[in-house]
Amino acid sequence: MIKIHPILTGHVQVKVAQRRRKTGGLLRVLLDRTWTEWLPIYAWAIEHPEGVVVVDTGETARASEPGYFPRLHPYFRTSVRMDVAAEQEIGPQLEKIGIAPKDVRTVILTHFHTDHAGGLHHFPESEILVQGRDYQSARGFMGKLRGYLPHRWPEWFAPKPIPFEAVPVGPFGRSYAATEAGDVLVVPTPGHTPGHVSVIVKAAGVSYFLAGDTSYTQRLLLEREPDGVSPNRAAALRTLDAILEYARTEPTVYLPSHDPQSAERLRQRQILDTAV
Ligand SMILES: [Zn+2]
Repeated sequence: MIKIHPILTGHVQVKVAQRRRKTGGLLRVLLDRTWTEWLPIYAWAIEHPEGVVVVDTGETARASEPGYFPRLHPYFRTSVRMDVAAEQEIGPQLEKIGIAPKDVRTVILTHFHTDHAGGLHHFPESEILVQGRDYQSARGFMGKLRGYLPHRWPEWFAPKPIPFEAVPVGPFGRSYAATEAGDVLVVPTPGHTPGHVSVIVKAAGVSYFLAGDTSYTQRLLLEREPDGVSPNRAAALRTLDAILEYARTEPTVYLPSHDPQSAERLRQRQILDTAV
């Protein structure tokens, strides 16, 4: 039996032009004065007979403290706000549902943005899988310029690049099976970042699509609206179309990290209706 737990690791506010892309992309985000409401930051714990797999690690409480983000970086200066309490970090939350972080077998990051990588320090003993190209561009000084926080990663951090294989999963040309049973599959979903990945959990009769930031909400997926920070709009749109195509053939529960409806949709096993 596989069980997926939503882990709410606090909330984030971004600009409206980040959630739904406007002409001008990132520049438009920086200039936008309108904030979204507080959005959830979800990570996911998959209880699997082969061990616990965690997808994304959420944000750290330190991100709510002044001075945590680089003060001179235009994005952090103007365009994002975090609200995370210490007990909302993924470590204590896993403990609360009876999972010791040290017993987490594998952690998969959908991408390196701070609200997905901020809880890495809870997993010094887990195998950590990341997309290799995104890892390279998130590292070092250039990584900091690009809006990553490599200086906040734990010192022991030495992730393993996801060894994708030429095994298609529906419209996704490559995949990596994170379990022997082949029911936890990582697929490339580029757009939000060039190396962004999603995780498909194949349970009885339904695919749970742990989507990271492929879109901010299910509605934006259905409307085929990429976000405002994707460096490549065309790639982001191709990914949205691939997810929709997947959902047309496999009953799919779509679970983006920042969709206020994600946890409820998981609880109700609400299948994505692509005809809407
Ligand atoms: Zn992101």
